[in-house]
Amino acid sequence: MISANVVTLLYLIASVCFIQALKGLSHPTTSRRGNAFGMVGMAIAILTTAALIISLAREGTAALDLGRIVLGLLIGGSVGTVLARKVEMTKMPELIAFMHSMIGLAAVAIAIAVVAEPHAFGIAAIGAPIPTGNRLELFIGTFVGAITFSGSVIAFGKLSGKYKFRLFQGAPVTFAGQHLLNLVLAIVMLACGFWFMGTQSWLPFVLMAAIAFVLGVLIIIPIGGADMPVVISMLNSYSGWAAAGIGFSLNNPMLIIAGSLVGSSGAILSYIMCKAMNRSFFNVILGGFGAEPSAGGGAAAGQRNVKSGSPDDAAFLMSNAETVTIIPGYGLAVARAQHALKELAAKLADQGVTVKYAIHPVAGRMPGHMNVLLAEAEVPYDQVFEMEDINGEFSQTDVVLVLGANDVVNPAAKNDPKSPIAGMPILEAYKARTVIVNKRSMAAGYAGLDNELFYMDKTMMVFGDAKKVLEDMLKALD
Ligand code: NDP
Repeated sequence: MISANVVTLLYLIASVCFIQALKGLSHPTTSRRGNAFGMVGMAIAILTTAALIISLAREGTAALDLGRIVLGLLIGGSVGTVLARKVEMTKMPELIAFMHSMIGLAAVAIAIAVVAEPHAFGIAAIGAPIPTGNRLELFIGTFVGAITFSGSVIAFGKLSGKYKFRLFQGAPVTFAGQHLLNLVLAIVMLACGFWFMGTQSWLPFVLMAAIAFVLGVLIIIPIGGADMPVVISMLNSYSGWAAAGIGFSLNNPMLIIAGSLVGSSGAILSYIMCKAMNRSFFNVILGGFGAEPSAGGGAAAGQRNVKSGSPDDAAFLMSNAETVTIIPGYGLAVARAQHALKELAAKLADQGVTVKYAIHPVAGRMPGHMNVLLAEAEVPYDQVFEMEDINGEFSQTDVVLVLGANDVVNPAAKNDPKSPIAGMPILEAYKARTVIVNKRSMAAGYAGLDNELFYMDKTMMVFGDAKKVLEDMLKALD
């Protein structure tokens, strides 16, 4: 038998662990500790909930099916373990989208169970109506959960790029009157929710949930695949609020606290990402960005001359430099070249070169992508610098090596007020004495823009896959 006070205390401890987890995850040096806190907090939360259910069953308040609880834990635990071990770093946003869809679906499933049998959750006596306050919580938890579920399924499809189905294509799906339709549906959904609060009938609940599922799809389809990481972070926030809403219905402080932590951290992260891309949140969710190559990209790029060199030339330049700053981007992650990069940096350091890494907050395709990539290769943290800490140093840097990065070093953001990325903070690589850029072609990056940096006199392009180029540079240094 577990008393209510002990349950509250254990939930409080788990909540403190979650707060410590978030704190730890805010810096690479403490992120492992943060993860450990998260794991301990989740273990306490799950075991406490299981103990509570068993205890309620012994009292005869809840129906106990220990077998099903253990089966659920085993299935969920094994699927989670296999996915986490298998997933590639560039596929991480997809995995997160999948998990959010599960959280959204769980919120809806719990709400259905509560509406069907409120007495089993201690919300109302057998046969008595659900109090209005609980109906409001169920309404919020359900519609946010349903939007999160269907929105995350579409985001998953767009990110994976594997499915032929039109709605799962990376390109935005738009049609006339789309925003008006969304608005009307949202109003009808809210009206059904308020109707549900004043009646015992299932009809408004079912209508509200069905419209929310459709809205989730409609909200996400106009957004281009490359904008999905911001959307994932937004859905992350929604999933947290859905869990918090259900936590109120179930009178479960653990769900309320954990849900609010996820909800608010997801919202803050979405804001930070939008700010680092110099785009408003509405610009992202209204969609269309980066879908078509803008003027100046692609074709125009093919007609201009650039200076290109071999990996040997690049190795020569770097080994004769005093300072080399490496700027990693999405291409480095695609090529999975982080280990080769670390070896190159170590070799340069052995030759007396001071090597630093410069990280742009939205380099890659998810928040912290480059930090995770470099940490995977065990790059020392004291060599890794955030944009605002290193931008002042580029004018005194001998060589900047840009690896599979494009938009985050595009001077148009500073110099061209008409550019779609005007105002986006960039790594000021163009100020260095020499710039070496590795990419496979002159193709544009995520924003579909040409990059003036590639045409500067001081720039040498080294074409090829980042991993192969880095390995060739290593051989040349030997
Ligand atoms: P970009 O997408 O701008 O550029 C990546 C470059 O990598 C491409 O130009 C590509 O050129 C090159 N590349 C691709 N594969 C390889 C390879 N195997 N070897 C070498 N090069 C390769 O990436 P950045 O990191 O510079 O910028 C990120 C962009 O993503 C920003 O615009 C940002 O706003 C956006 N974004 C970021 C999010 C985040 O959270 N981090 C979220 C949403 C959007 P080529 O094809 O010629 O090789």
